[in-house]
Parts: sequence; C-alpha cells; structure tokens
Amino acid sequence: MTPKILILGAGYGGLTTALRLQKELHYNEADITLVNKHDYHYITTHLHQPAAGTVDPRRIKIDLDELIDKDRINFIKAEVVAIDIQNERKVTLDNGQGLTYDILVIALGSEVETFGIEGLKEHAFTIRSINSVQLIREHIEYMFAKYKNEPGHPEYLTFIVGGAGFTGIEFVGELADRIPELCEQFEVNPKKVRIINIEAAPSALPGFDPQLVDYAIEVLKNKGVEFKINTPIKACTEEGVTLADGEEIKAGTVVWTGGVRGNKLIEMLGIETMRARIKVDEFLRAPGYQDVFIIGDNSIVFNEEGRPYPPTAQIAVQQGEHLAKQITSYVRNGKMDLKPFKFNLRGTVASLGKGEAIGKVGNRKMTGYTALIMKQLIDNRYLYSIGGLPLVIKKGKLLG
Ligand code: FAD
Ligand code: NAD
Repeated sequence: MTPKILILGAGYGGLTTALRLQKELHYNEADITLVNKHDYHYITTHLHQPAAGTVDPRRIKIDLDELIDKDRINFIKAEVVAIDIQNERKVTLDNGQGLTYDILVIALGSEVETFGIEGLKEHAFTIRSINSVQLIREHIEYMFAKYKNEPGHPEYLTFIVGGAGFTGIEFVGELADRIPELCEQFEVNPKKVRIINIEAAPSALPGFDPQLVDYAIEVLKNKGVEFKINTPIKACTEEGVTLADGEEIKAGTVVWTGGVRGNKLIEMLGIETMRARIKVDEFLRAPGYQDVFIIGDNSIVFNEEGRPYPPTAQIAVQQGEHLAKQITSYVRNGKMDLKPFKFNLRGTVASLGKGEAIGKVGNRKMTGYTALIMKQLIDNRYLYSIGGLPLVIKKGKLLG
C-alpha cells in the first residue's frame, strides 16, 4: 500500500522536507500531503525588513504553487486545529477535514513568548508573520502622521523594541534606516525620533561573541539607536512600558522581540514539552513514537555539551533534508532504517541595516560588507535549495 506522509507547516523545516521528497520520490511512490495556513511560504529571516518598511512584504512571499508539483504533493491551505497521535492518529483542520497518516511530520514553527508580562499581548506588536509585520509598518507611519497633527506628543515618535536578541537587533538597524525617509515624508525633525532597544540580560545578543556584540552596538548607536541593557521590561500599557527599576517610558509603539516558544498544538500532544517544544530523539522522533517526527522550532536538539541549539532556520532546513532522506529510504525499503541527525552549525550572521552586518562562521569573525555578503550567500543558497536559479533571480536581492 502507498504510504501516507503528512507534513504540517510549510516553513523552513516542513517545506524543505516536502520539496526534497518531491525531488527524490517517483510519482505514486508515496501519498504526500502538505498543510499550511497560507498558500505562500515566507522568508521569516527577513521579516524585520517589511516590519520597518524598508522592503515590500511581497518581496519575501513565495507562492507555494510556484514550488510544489501538484501531481506529487497534495497541498491543503488550512489551519491545523488538533493533532491526535495517541489514539486516532488523526490531524484535524479548521475546515473540519480529518487527515490520517503513516508518517507524520510536525513543523508548525514558533509563537511569541511573553513570559506572562502584563499588557504585552494586548499592547505590543510582534515580528512573526507577513500580517504582523504589515501592522507594524502601517502603525509606524500612522504615528508620524499623528505627531504632525498633535505635535505636543513627543511620545508618538518614541519606538521601543523589547529584547535585544537577533530579532530585536536586526529590527532596530532596519528601523533606524527608515527614519530619515519618514522624517522627510512627514516633515519631522529627525532629532524628535527615539528608538530605544531594551534588554533584560547584562549584554545585547546574550551569549554571542562579545567583540561582535560591541561592534553591533557601536554601529546601531551611530545610527541613533539608544540602548537600555540589564533592564527587564516589567509591564506594557497603551502608553508605553514600565521597567523593572520602576522607570516608565512613554511610547506610541512597542515592538516585542523578547523571545519565542513552540506552537501551542505541541502542548496538546500529551508528551513532555519545554516551552511548547519537544526533546526529540536522535532520529527526530517524538519520544515513544515510531512514526511521528518533529522538526524546526517545535523540536529541541542538544549539542555535545548538553545545551539546546537555539531555534533557527538553519537547523530546521538541515532537519528537513535529513528527514526527507529517512522517509525516502522507508518508502523504498518498507522499513525504518534511521540514521541519527547531526546538526552542522555553519555560522551565524545578522544584519544591522543598510551596509552593515556581523557574523561568525567557524572561528572567523566578520563585520560590514563581508558579513552582509555572507548573509546574501546564505539567503541565496536557501532560495536555490527550494526554487532553483529562477527563484534566486526573482527574489535573491533582498539586502540593501
Ligand atoms: P516556520 O518557518 O515558522 O514555519 C512554520 C509554518 O507553519 C509557517 O508557514 C506557518 O504559517 C505554518 N503554521 C503555523 N501554525 C499553523 C497551523 N496551526 N496550521 C497550519 N499551518 C501553520 N534563523 C536563522 O537560521 N537565520 C536567520 O538569519 C534568522 N533570522 C530571523 C529573523 C527574524 C526576524 C525572525 C523572526 C526569525 C529569524 N530566524 C533566523 C529564525 C527562523 O526564522 C526560525 O527558526 C525558522 O523559521 C523555523 O522554521 P520552522 O520550519 O520551524 O517554522
Ligand atoms: P531570543 O530569545 O534570541 O532573544 C530575546 C531577547 O529578549 C533576549 O536577549 C532576552 O534576554 C530578551 N528579553 C527577554 N525578556 C525580556 C524582558 N522582560 N525585557 C527586556 N528584554 C527581555 O529571541 P529572538 O531574537 O526573537 O530570536 C529567536 C530565535 O531566532 C533565536 O534562536 C535566534 O537565534 C533566531 N534568530 C536568528 C537570527 C540570525 O541568525 N540572524 C535573527 C533573528 C532570530
């Protein structure tokens, strides 16, 4: 009987798995279904750009139609609302459809972690999806327009970014680049604008190379970004934020980049989770399940020192590639002959806006254009892996 392979999520992990299977398997060798809540894939690693308004959101969207061969993959645009791996082995969609499987791949990505901080869910913006970043871009423009009408409110031009991890740092770099254009458009004195990046830990980019962190802070400060380090945000209101030291900062815009957790559906699987992520076994399986694989931001994989790797696109893609090989072998041989997954950390590169970036590849540290070119190469490599040269030509010039 043709095995049924069900893949949930068409982000970095799920899409890579699906496209590799599409390439490896012949017609009718397997019955592959891919479910995603949108009919497009988006380049999450560039979401900070449309959020700031420096790149059109359409630039980072790729229609799944362009990538998927409908004769080999059955794509369903729907939201997964329940996953039952314990009893019925069934996935339920928001359209009421129920899907069964022989092999299930869960790759539903992450959600924003607010750590229960009062008011964040209600009053802060987040950088998570095409829709959420369009809201940020429009709100920023609205605050400039509002300030023009009510110049007695300097807080309208104060932009707070909570969390100086990679998302926060990349976003403030991009936002600082957008400000001069907005000031010109709305005839506002640039000196009136404040971008404040607030970080709870004793350093921005905690755990990253200190020399590169210093470089990043220097670049961003020169672009006009203010930093408050070692200062957790305690609450968020319609008016701004309150810090743990009691200081209140009024702001018309708060963007929360303070961390991520897995998907809430993961917490309903009936398996032990850590912030909605599952410690998978060495073959990327949910513990205790032969045929349920969990990858990307939904999974936790440990390094040799027993520390979890951070959730990144890089690991999600490698897991997808690995899993597709395992599934192909299962389809061909009729039995699971699994090989352990080993993550190959190729490096970390982060943009700091126009013309600036930092990166560490092996022991080599990079800054400025060298790091930016490295980021472009990484992006193009990914685009090539999912859509070949045509996609690189169409979408491959994202960086400024
Ligand atoms: P995702 O890529 O998030 O995909 C999940 C998919 O599931 C999405 O298509 C989503 O729409 C879909 N989905 C979710 N819920 C449902 C549901 N209920 N039903 C149906 N579909 C659903 N990592 C790097 O390695 N390098 C970087 O430079 C980098 N830059 C980043 C920059 C930003 C601004 C952000 C926010 C993240 C960045 N990351 C980076 C992290 C990286 O984007 C994630 O680790 C990666 O996207 C995880 O891949 P994934 O497949 O697990 O999930
Ligand atoms: P993160 O967890 O890496 O960073 C969140 C930051 O917010 C941390 O520095 C944390 O100390 C801070 N924070 C938490 N609570 C706070 C509070 N109350 N007040 C102020 N600060 C607070 O989250 P992220 O930056 O969204 O990244 C998520 C994942 O995506 C990570 O694995 C990251 O490596 C990856 N990512 C990678 C890149 C890249 O490689 N260029 C870019 C973006 C994201």
